[in-house]
Amino acid sequence: MNAATQKDRYDLAIIGAGPAGMMAALRAAECGAKVVLIEKNRMPGTKLLMTGKERCNITNAETDIRAFAACFGSNGRFLYNALYHFGVKETIDLFHRSGLKTKTERGGRVFPESDSAKDVRDLFLRLIKKAGVTLLTGCSIKKLSAHQGVIEKVILEDTEIKARNYLICTGGLSYPGTGSTGDGYRWAGQMGHRIVPTRPALTPITVEEKWVRELEGLSLKNVRVSIFQDNKKQDERFGEALFTGNGLSGPIILDISKSTGKLLAAGRADLFIDLKPALDVSVLDKRILRDLEAHHNKSIKNILPDLLPQKLIPVILELAKIDPEKKANSVTKDERKRLRTLLKEFRLTVKGLLGFEKAIITAGGIDLKEVDPRTMRSKMIRNLYFAGEILDLDGPTGGYNLQVCWSTGYLAGESAARD
Ligand SMILES: Cc1cc2nc3c(=O)[nH]c(=O)nc-3n(C[C@H](O)[C@H](O)[C@H](O)COP(=O)(O)OP(=O)(O)OC[C@H]3O[C@@H](n4cnc5c(N)ncnc54)[C@H](O)[C@@H]3O)c2cc1C
Repeated sequence: MNAATQKDRYDLAIIGAGPAGMMAALRAAECGAKVVLIEKNRMPGTKLLMTGKERCNITNAETDIRAFAACFGSNGRFLYNALYHFGVKETIDLFHRSGLKTKTERGGRVFPESDSAKDVRDLFLRLIKKAGVTLLTGCSIKKLSAHQGVIEKVILEDTEIKARNYLICTGGLSYPGTGSTGDGYRWAGQMGHRIVPTRPALTPITVEEKWVRELEGLSLKNVRVSIFQDNKKQDERFGEALFTGNGLSGPIILDISKSTGKLLAAGRADLFIDLKPALDVSVLDKRILRDLEAHHNKSIKNILPDLLPQKLIPVILELAKIDPEKKANSVTKDERKRLRTLLKEFRLTVKGLLGFEKAIITAGGIDLKEVDPRTMRSKMIRNLYFAGEILDLDGPTGGYNLQVCWSTGYLAGESAARD
């Protein structure tokens, strides 16, 4: 629909058709409001399509509200109302009721049974259409016009839209190519809101060692990653990591990036991967010895595949200074020790974190002290609401961040419709 034809006055104008905006639009329309959802991209939910490697980790099966909120640090308390009102269970119920089956994987990660983020986006498109929401795509809001603490209209390229209430769901700053370019922060700031300084969160980590390039694409399952500073372990995670062209990514790396960033600000940080966390050093040593004895005539490079992914073997042998062709029966005690140490303490020097271009989420945003957690309404502008990533909330990987969008979007949509 063309924005220029929009002369009607709405009950609620929602800016940004990501997960938060679409959920809010659906709920507000269900509550009887006349809703317009305005999106600058040609299609809604561009970022949603990328989530969970295009499989969309829609939520986390953590149904204990306090435990869920605790994953967001001290700001998590802001979420209590939204989660009590429309939490994990209600979200999953909504998907099931609407015909989208889900499955739960390791770490409580909930995905559509179809493994398709597009199914999630398309479901919302159907639901908002059925609920009577007016969807305007390819329409970029230029600014919000406010007078004496009340928004009067939103201004687009070639028209204006008026509503009783307004909801900003423009997301954060990460992956700006998806449409999240921080417009909402700017408008809110101009209207007097404090914006907690934004920074990239859940980011890949880059390392100094150039040879990681040889490992690009290698995924390590069930490993333990630890971050050290001044010879002291500062943080650790267990799970899946992935080598990139210049460092590491994958769920546990993204999750540990926050504390790594803080450590880097104070000095050098080293990352250690325990490739065999289930085996302690002496058990691992016996295992290596057993393998060497059992295959005494084979070269070492042909014995290690039982213990390590193929791609890692040349790198490990090079670092351990062991000739890959060396026969098992001539591997020395020192060489075996070096090998064992590398398997338990595969060390990399942290260079830095990648920026907003590759961050999964934005930390910082609309100061939560200026938003009413019972309604998501601004405490500064009477007819303004916020939902989704624009708020100063950033959780770990595992479906937590999308649940913020579902819960705050639902609450904001309902409150704005009834106000
Ligand atoms: C690669 C990647 C994978 C991810 N995977 C997961 C996952 O599996 N699980 C999970 O929980 N979280 C995941 N996330 C995080 C999750 O995608 C975000 O938390 C979520 O998309 C935020 O939703 P939102 O609706 O607040 O904002 P967004 O999804 O960013 O949507 C904001 C919308 O506002 C529109 N907009 C902005 N400015 C304007 C304007 N001026 N006028 C009109 N429209 C405007 C944008 O075009 C955009 O469509 C992932 C993020 C990334 C980048």
